[in-house]
Amino acid sequence: MPLSSRSSGPRTWSSEPTPGWGRRPGAAGTAGPGTPGSTAWLIGISVILQQRLALAARVTLHHVVYFKQLLSGRQVATSNSTAGQMANFMYLVGDPQSRKALIVDPAWDVDSLVRIAREDGYEIAGALVTHYHPDHVGGDLFGLQVQGVATLLEQESVPLYVNKHEAEGLKIVTGVSDNDMRKVDDGDTLGVGDLTIRFMHTPGHTPGSQCFLVGDRLVAGDTLFVQGCGRVDLPGSDPDQMYYSLTQKLAKLPPETVLYPGHDYGMTETSTIADELKNNIYLRISSIEDWRRLMGRGP
Ligand SMILES: [Zn+2]
Repeated sequence: MPLSSRSSGPRTWSSEPTPGWGRRPGAAGTAGPGTPGSTAWLIGISVILQQRLALAARVTLHHVVYFKQLLSGRQVATSNSTAGQMANFMYLVGDPQSRKALIVDPAWDVDSLVRIAREDGYEIAGALVTHYHPDHVGGDLFGLQVQGVATLLEQESVPLYVNKHEAEGLKIVTGVSDNDMRKVDDGDTLGVGDLTIRFMHTPGHTPGSQCFLVGDRLVAGDTLFVQGCGRVDLPGSDPDQMYYSLTQKLAKLPPETVLYPGHDYGMTETSTIADELKNNIYLRISSIEDWRRLMGRGP
């Protein structure tokens, strides 16, 4: 899987059907079926073919991404009460052509995550790390040993895509090495078959927290929740950086972008940027001074 720098833009898998496949003014209305073999008849057949091709293209676009949201305690780690309380969302993101998939934040029950992908016909091609907290990547969580990226590496020899500012922390929390990681930067993209994943550095919750853009989906880790955001009072947190990540980066994504958070903390499991701009107070703060007051750090 090539990892390209920020200079190369995303591929065009999500582009609209080829212009001209849609109905042209007058074409379908004036052609009519006509007599078989006549010009009008041939044009009619051609229009029907064009309409079918356009429909097929739309169907393909809707199915172009393999994408699964899995909740700890519900779809995976079902017998682990802590996993259920933590309510972590994990994701499988893949390309239906190459049948390769990545696991976002493999934790709690790595066997089930790998099994689900395999049962769906996908080979694991790597893991995408939103940030280094043990409920997302495994490690010691208040004395409890949580499965995570190290467990995955025991089974699969695959790279871990981690923001360059998070790499040292990931090594400490999980014991993985530099060789296991691909250190990515804001704006980098990753190609998986025909699929392109774009990395967004969104510091605040941790120094190297990152989100992933997959077409119109935003996998947001602990940066943005449905009507909430990640904590900024933990070691490594930076409240001011969180303000800029939320209001200058995520709030500026297209409104139809679908939010897939790192925890099931909201009324719904997903949302959109449009709905969050309306309902999420943390996206609506208009100045850093107001933000600091909200966080209890300002005058
Ligand atoms: Zn976290």
